Order: sequence, then C-alpha cells, then structure tokens
Amino acid sequence: MKKTLIKNAMLATMDPSTHDLTSGDILIVDDRIERIAPVIEADEAEIVDAAGMIASPGFVDTHRHVWQSLLRGVAVNWSLFEYMVEMRTMYPVCYQIEDAYLGNHYGALEAINAGVTTLVDHSHLQVSAEHSDALVKGLKDSGIRGIFGYGVYRNPRYTPGEAIDPSSVIAEIAGPIEKFHRDNAARVREEHFPSDDGLLRFGIASSEFFTFPSMEPVLEELAWSRTLEPARITFHAAIGINDDVNVIESLSNAGALGDDLLLSHGNCLTDDDLALIAREGGWLSTTPDTEFQMSGAFPVLERVVKSGRPPSLGVDIVSAFNGDMFTQMRLMLQAIRFRDNELTTPGGLPSSARFPAAKMLEYATLGGAACVGLENVIGSLTPGKKADVVLTRLDAVNTAALRDPVAALVFYANPNDVEYVWIDGVVRKRVGRLEGESWDSVQRRVQEARDGIDDRFAKIDGRAMRRAWEPVWGLAPGSSEPEARGAEKVRG
Ligand SMILES: [Zn+2]
Repeated sequence: MKKTLIKNAMLATMDPSTHDLTSGDILIVDDRIERIAPVIEADEAEIVDAAGMIASPGFVDTHRHVWQSLLRGVAVNWSLFEYMVEMRTMYPVCYQIEDAYLGNHYGALEAINAGVTTLVDHSHLQVSAEHSDALVKGLKDSGIRGIFGYGVYRNPRYTPGEAIDPSSVIAEIAGPIEKFHRDNAARVREEHFPSDDGLLRFGIASSEFFTFPSMEPVLEELAWSRTLEPARITFHAAIGINDDVNVIESLSNAGALGDDLLLSHGNCLTDDDLALIAREGGWLSTTPDTEFQMSGAFPVLERVVKSGRPPSLGVDIVSAFNGDMFTQMRLMLQAIRFRDNELTTPGGLPSSARFPAAKMLEYATLGGAACVGLENVIGSLTPGKKADVVLTRLDAVNTAALRDPVAALVFYANPNDVEYVWIDGVVRKRVGRLEGESWDSVQRRVQEARDGIDDRFAKIDGRAMRRAWEPVWGLAPGSSEPEARGAEKVRG
C-alpha cells in the first residue's frame, strides 16, 4: 500500500460536499483519494508540504490533436482554409513512425506539465499500422489518462518530393472510410485495448460528416464505429461552416444520437440541436482558441449549459496554442463577459460580471469528466475517486498577495506554476519537474524530429496544393495567396 499525504494545501475540490473546506490535507492511498480533512495524520506516508499551493482536480481536455506537438507554431497565423491545406494534405505525409511516437509522447508530457491529467486525443495521423502503434505507445508511456480517438480520416499517402497532382490528393481524402481503417482500427482495439480498464481507453475520431453528400455514409460509419465499442466517438461539428447544421436533426431522426458521441466546436448548432442532444445523448467540447481564430460563430459553451448538459473545454491544435487549460478558461470567460457588456442596452454596462472564475474551473474539470463518462471516477477531489490531483503554486512572483485562491488559479496561474501532478495516484510531476523523464533528452529528440519534418515539408509544392484547394472552398484562383489574404471571404 502506497500512501501520500498532502499537507496544508488550499483546496478547490470542485465537490459540493466539501465546498466549505478551503484548506486542509489530502490522503492518497494507492490510486485513490482516501480522505480530505482540515488535519490528517497518517503513518508511513510520503509527506508533501503544500503550503502556498492550491490542490485541484486534474484538468480534463476533451479535444486535442496531440500529434501536432511537433508542429509548434506552424498554425499561429492560419485560417481554417490554411489549416485544411497544410494540416490535412501536407504535414501528415511528413511524419515518420518515430515522429508519430514522439509527437504523442511529448504532446502528452506537455499536457501533464500543465496539470492536464485526462485528454481526448483526436488522432488523425493513422497513415500506417505502424504509425497507429507508435501513437498509442506515445500516450501510454506518458502515464496520462484519456481516450485515444482513432481517426478514420482518409489521409494522403504520397511521399514528399514525388510528382503529384494536388487535385487528386484532395479528391482522395474525401469519401467514406477505407478498408485499411476498418481493419487497422479493429486491430488497434484488439491489440492495444483488449479491455476498457486501462488509463487509456479506445475511441473513434470520425470523419467530418459535413463533407459527406448524404446521411447514408454517416450512419454507416457510426454503426461500424459502434461495433468496436469505443469509449467515445468524437467528431468535428458545425465549427462555422453551415453545411452540417442538419447533422444533429438527421442523427436524431435515425435514432443515432447517444451518450457515446462527443462533438467538438459545435458553434453553429441551433438551440433545437442542443435540446435534441440534451434529450437523446451527446456531449460538446468548446475549444476557445480555435473558435476565435478559425470559426465563424460564437463558442457554444454557454448555450450547452442552458440546454442542461455540462460543457467542457479543449485545447485542440497545439500547433498554434499552448497546451494548457488556464488559457482556454480565461479566453472563454472573458469572451462571455465581453458579449454581455457589448449587448447591454440601452447604453450602459452591466452592474456586475456574470460567470465567476470558479465556474470555468468546474467546466475544465468536472464538466470534462462528465463528457468522457468518468464523472464518478475523476473531475473532483472526492474520497473514493481516482487520485488525479494537481498542486499549483500560488506564492510565486505572478500569484502572491492573492485573495481568492480559486480565482487566482484561473486568472494568474500558468503551467510553470504547476508544482505536482498525480495521475491515478502516481506522481508525474514533482517539484516543478516531469517525473522519470530527462527533459534534455526529450528536447533534443523533439528538435531533431522537427528538423526532419521541416525538411520533408519543404519538398512539397505548397503553392500548388493551395491553388488546388481554392475551388473546394469556392475561392477564385489565386485569391488565397498570402499577399491576397483578406481579399476574399470564404463561403459560409
Ligand atoms: Zn480539432
């Protein structure tokens, strides 16, 4: 039996029954939280003095493309169009098998470093069976909890440098799932996820249904996905292109909505869609950074709350954004407040701000736990639940002289303030350093992988690929060139 006793912590338990307990001790025994009380004594326990730190449940990120960790920064100035051109038809062919492993391993370490203990990996880099194996192993080796969402996207399969017809590459990635994915996903399920008891569970990341001409292949793909009994079937929906607004209604008509569905974005869903989801099943992940950079509508989070379902947050593309949830909580909160202020009539500003910071922390922990089906397992510091615990320093240069510790956690903290992280009772970050990993070694491998990916990427004619995508988006020839940026609006 292994015991860890966290002493003198400020507490953000996110558990209504211990809401009044603002500081105290936490006893972890093996993989579970045993007790939370003002003072706990325990024999033979490792003592962690958490004076100056706040204990909170690990963050639950419900939408992230972990493999993109090796593409840090490439997407910071992209539109959704540019994302489709480069991330869907150029970068995947630049990843070798080792890159797939490292992308997911380093990406998961980045999450843990920031206090994210559970994530949904929407993994659309399944370009070969070996890549799939490496992607799973990368996550498993990190010790993170989560869902490996096997992406059934039809990825391009050319080699950088070979002469290709960009239009046929684009044509190739449209359409129903390939036999390769049906076989490979079933194999991955059997070999890597023989049971659903592990920290990492099997999931499916579906096609983008709005690219399908009818509901038939959508329903067929969902029915096939369900034969593999995934923890969640996750898919991008209604990000800001209005084509797929009828997907929810059609799924409902076909009796295909259910609590195994996890939709990311969903900004263009109607309140009727959200009511259908609340009634018949399904969950939403809002990714504020992406919604503001690339989508065409205000994030859906508040409307999900109104529909009666718990909402959740995600980081999405670590090729553009920091892999932490602090940023996403703040962005979402301030956007809601801005809109309140903007809409106030006549003329005046509201007398108080809605949505306290603690609410956003709830969505980033408990809300996420509900969305991945683990509300009774994680998401709050509750005796009996799994010990996914984060200690964040609130006595640093950027956080000292604080008043409200929960507000300070949401508004001032950053990943460097995360001092300790336990997942399933195992310490994964200790005194500010990732446990069991030599960062120097990971960092060196990450730089080498980045250089290799960049070398291969440089061999692809990006200009030709961009031109080939223009008609797909209803753009005039040449109008998407960087120098013409902003000259033409895309459809939607
Ligand atoms: Zn995404």
